[in-house]
Amino acid sequence: MTMYDSLETVKAELAKCMKCGNCQEVCPIYLEERKEGTVARGKIKLVEAVLKGDLKYTDGFAEKLALCLTCKACNAKCPCGVKVDKIILGTRAAIVKNKGLHPLKKFIFGTLKRPGLFNFGLKTGSVFQGLVFKKHKSLNGSYPRFPFGLDLKRIIPPLASTPLRDQLPEVVKVDNPVKKVAFFTGCTMNYLYVDAGKAVVNILKRNNVEIVIPKDQHCCSMPIIAHGDAETAKEMAKSHVDIFGKLDVDAIITTCGSCGCTFGHHYQELLEDDPEYYEKAKAIAAKIIDISDFIVKEIGLDKVKLGPVNMKVTYHDPCHLNRGMGVKDSPREILKAIPGLEFVEMKNADRCCGSAGSFSLTHYDLSMDIHKHKTEAIKATGADAIVTGCGSCIMQITDGMNRFDLNLPIYYTVEILAKSYAAKEAEDKKVAS
Ligand code: SF4
Ligand code: SF4
Repeated sequence: MTMYDSLETVKAELAKCMKCGNCQEVCPIYLEERKEGTVARGKIKLVEAVLKGDLKYTDGFAEKLALCLTCKACNAKCPCGVKVDKIILGTRAAIVKNKGLHPLKKFIFGTLKRPGLFNFGLKTGSVFQGLVFKKHKSLNGSYPRFPFGLDLKRIIPPLASTPLRDQLPEVVKVDNPVKKVAFFTGCTMNYLYVDAGKAVVNILKRNNVEIVIPKDQHCCSMPIIAHGDAETAKEMAKSHVDIFGKLDVDAIITTCGSCGCTFGHHYQELLEDDPEYYEKAKAIAAKIIDISDFIVKEIGLDKVKLGPVNMKVTYHDPCHLNRGMGVKDSPREILKAIPGLEFVEMKNADRCCGSAGSFSLTHYDLSMDIHKHKTEAIKATGADAIVTGCGSCIMQITDGMNRFDLNLPIYYTVEILAKSYAAKEAEDKKVAS
């Protein structure tokens, strides 16, 4: 029985909570709402009440459990080691079992689990997006022309005319490879931030790493897990376990903390009661590594390859990359190694930007209230660019900048590293000519 099949399985986590309230200090939602039901302790009490039979699976209960970014800030602060995110995800799955899935979510998740249909939908969307969205004059994004469920001021990144995986071969060969890796592109790099995906490939090639980019990979299923549709998530987990499990590679590279956590933790949780798939999921999890950790820890950051990038940048820690995968130092090491680049820390760099994937769609105003602190922290650094390691954070920060009057470019860490490599190559060419 997995944590997604029975609420009884989270009882041990609930029992660890001593109701100290330390989680209040760090919960981005509680810090805005100041209501006990929005903090981990309050949610734990509600789940305990449901388990005792004192509370039913009401709409109010479901809404309280939806009010969580799964940012893991409470996990990190908790003196008792309560894995609050586990309680939240398990309870959301129990809510879906009891109340069913909203028809719109059913439709969206049904599309996500059919990669061909999803791909066709987004490719078609890229052709017609100009009819519905109008390009922002300076930021990388567009805003809706009509109110169709999205705030009219909301900035959305454009869909790439050709997805990343369609632009790349399935195997990128190099001479004398030092390692062979698989690249899980994730949806944001595949459909939105294609240039960042190309930067990943160029960096790996430059370091003599052979890359396999399976064409049949698809959404990692994190949005589906977050909304409690465990059955669909299990199907998708098995599919990825099959796709990546058969590859003979040293590592599986991810470029988004949520995808990394899904492959690294959630697939095992979902498949726990299926011994064969559980073992396969465990083997895959052991190979999962974020691109910045791979560069720093596995291939080594060769400073001879770095050219100048004259920028003052600050770095935002994505929650799932930092607290989920433990990747905090490597992106900073990369940035600090680049000549000409001035790195400045922002206040509370590891505080959630308020995105949490679809949370910013379902609770837009609250997500922007949370985000306001991020924009203020960025502004205070005087940086002329922002760097981070998650597409969802890039979307949220771009939208937040428009909302709170800031206009800075925002990059993945790999894009800055690729700029540095390109600068060095240009320097070397100049010397040679
Ligand atoms: S910090 Fe941990 S132990 Fe304390 S109330 Fe929050 S979840 Fe419970
Ligand atoms: S995971 Fe984040 S948003 Fe959710 S209860 Fe914990 S601190 Fe609050």
